[in-house]
Amino acid sequence: MIQLDEKLEPAFDEVVRRNAGELEFHQAVREVLESLGRVIAKRPEYADDALIERICEPERQIIFRVPWVDDQGRVQINRGFRVQFNSALGPYKGGIRFHPSVNVGIIKFLGFEQTFKNALSGMPIGGGKGGSDFNPRGRSNGEIMRFCQSFMTELHRHLGEHTDVPAGDIGVGGREIGYMFGQYKRLTNRFEAGVFTGKGLLYGGSCARTEATGYGNTYFVQSMLAMRGQSFDGKKCVVSGAGNVAIYTMEKIQSFGGTIVACSDSNGYVVDENGIDLALVKEIKEVRRERISEYARMKGAGAHYIEKGSIWDVPCDVAMPSATQNELTGRDARMLVKNGAVAVGEGANMPSTSEAIRIFQDAGVMFAPGKAANAGGVATSALEMQQNASRDSWTFEQTEARLASIMRGIHDRCATTADEYGAPGDYVLGANIAGFIRVAESMRALGVI
Ligand code: GLU
Repeated sequence: MIQLDEKLEPAFDEVVRRNAGELEFHQAVREVLESLGRVIAKRPEYADDALIERICEPERQIIFRVPWVDDQGRVQINRGFRVQFNSALGPYKGGIRFHPSVNVGIIKFLGFEQTFKNALSGMPIGGGKGGSDFNPRGRSNGEIMRFCQSFMTELHRHLGEHTDVPAGDIGVGGREIGYMFGQYKRLTNRFEAGVFTGKGLLYGGSCARTEATGYGNTYFVQSMLAMRGQSFDGKKCVVSGAGNVAIYTMEKIQSFGGTIVACSDSNGYVVDENGIDLALVKEIKEVRRERISEYARMKGAGAHYIEKGSIWDVPCDVAMPSATQNELTGRDARMLVKNGAVAVGEGANMPSTSEAIRIFQDAGVMFAPGKAANAGGVATSALEMQQNASRDSWTFEQTEARLASIMRGIHDRCATTADEYGAPGDYVLGANIAGFIRVAESMRALGVI
């Protein structure tokens, strides 16, 4: 662990005391504070008026009961969360996650990350995150709809296009957003398209939003590789996950001439010596909603499925962790380094442990942290909000062109900030500092609120 600046240490101690046992939240805060020593040394005023302490404390946390009736007529209870972390730059903005692992600490870590990610994107959006410990796996369409409606019956009073604008995350895609937006519309009697992003194209969604996180991560890593005169062309890539982020990362990498050698879900991973057949992955995950093990069964020769085990054992040049937090450990990082990986781009939020990041950086592996590399999703959400505000809808090409230029902007902002603060090539430091400065400047301008 890097020693914290003496001005930052008390803020971190307070986070640990006040949020006991919320390890992912501590990890996310620590990672940002470790980067801020150099900023405070240059600009001591940023530590005035308890600004650091305020940035680490969510503005509002909402926890609520979500009762719903399953297909057998039994009443089920889940817990719902929305952490409205910071609105200094705009309305709270961030996704909703449905996964059994969700608790307030997970949502807080995600809301904290989101605040800096959104700031770094350069768009006028604050940070927030929500979710529930509801497990959508194996649930019928009717159960999903009733759950979404009950969840929104409570949450809707805390939302609004100028207040808080949710979107999807793990376990929440177009179908769930449709059900939640539908219930919001019904309860408020307002077709307020800008209150949700990731909507379907028929009712106010944006072209390229589905693809944006994966495409954006690929654009970011492309810029990072270009700094060392390299490209995706001919590179072997491993992309963990098989959700939206992973699928569209694979699609863009393939279009840049890279080969995807493996992908995964939470049960195991598939390796295809001929390169992953993306049309088949889409069919399995998006149409049939089945497990990735089906891939090997349907594909036959050349493809094999490994249950459990680590996808990071598969040799590759570029690793794109796109599943979930802390999925890539120190052990995995050592394996990737041993196998000659040159770059890592985080598609998920905080997928690498702190130890893994240190191993990559010490080995000179180019490392793109999630809050920069996966910001294309939320940036395109901000483009969706723009389209909704002007009652317009842009073409796919126009939207993707904006996404590509936003990702180049984020890349360059991280790289320049890292240079400016004496750590060239350190995208973690660059992303944390550049995101922090935007939030801090705005908070200072707004007074002690
Ligand atoms: N859940 C996504 C993220 O982690 C997207 C959030 C959004 O579009 O608001 O950034």
